Amino acid sequence: MSPEIRFLYSWFLDPLFALQHAAAAPDAPYPSREATTERLHTFVRLWNEEGEMMKHAMQESLGLSFFPNVVDVHVVGAGKRCFSSPVILVGTIPDESLVDVLTHELLHLLLNDNTVRLDLRAVHETMFPGLETPTRNHVLVHAAHRAIYLDTLHDPARLERNKLRDADSPAYMDAWRIVEERGHADILEELRTYYQKSGFTLAS
Ligand SMILES: [Zn+2]
Repeated sequence: MSPEIRFLYSWFLDPLFALQHAAAAPDAPYPSREATTERLHTFVRLWNEEGEMMKHAMQESLGLSFFPNVVDVHVVGAGKRCFSSPVILVGTIPDESLVDVLTHELLHLLLNDNTVRLDLRAVHETMFPGLETPTRNHVLVHAAHRAIYLDTLHDPARLERNKLRDADSPAYMDAWRIVEERGHADILEELRTYYQKSGFTLAS
């Protein structure tokens, strides 16, 4: 079972993002509601091409099942970053990155809201002691995403494009480096060992 991903225009959040945008870049126009709704339709079309496969690959790589049956993806006009809880996407994400950006956010969601109620903080403390929080929060996400790029999609160039997008974030890049050094398969295997030690019966 994997959740339905439902894209919604966020009438509540969009004005807040517009205010933030106006404060950061007073001269840059903020997308209209109509433009963002149009963008949302493009997001739906792009996600529909790969979404089912991605949801399956995410759950498979982490050995977890999403708790929610429906995940609402709130779309706003523009902003500096996207979020996973709730899932918020900015309309300025380029077409070619949409599926990968949303997969990143959904991997965070899957780790935080799954059917076994994983204690993610305890996992992080056991597997990655001493890492700064922003880096630590991205090691499992990137390990799973690397598994999807390389072992499911067999598309190393797409992985490299993701890393290029992350180049301005030291925490993201640290997490990619750790995943490469330790190996994504080894990290994901260690995660499964952790599940067994902590007594979880995993959904197949
Ligand atoms: Zn993230």
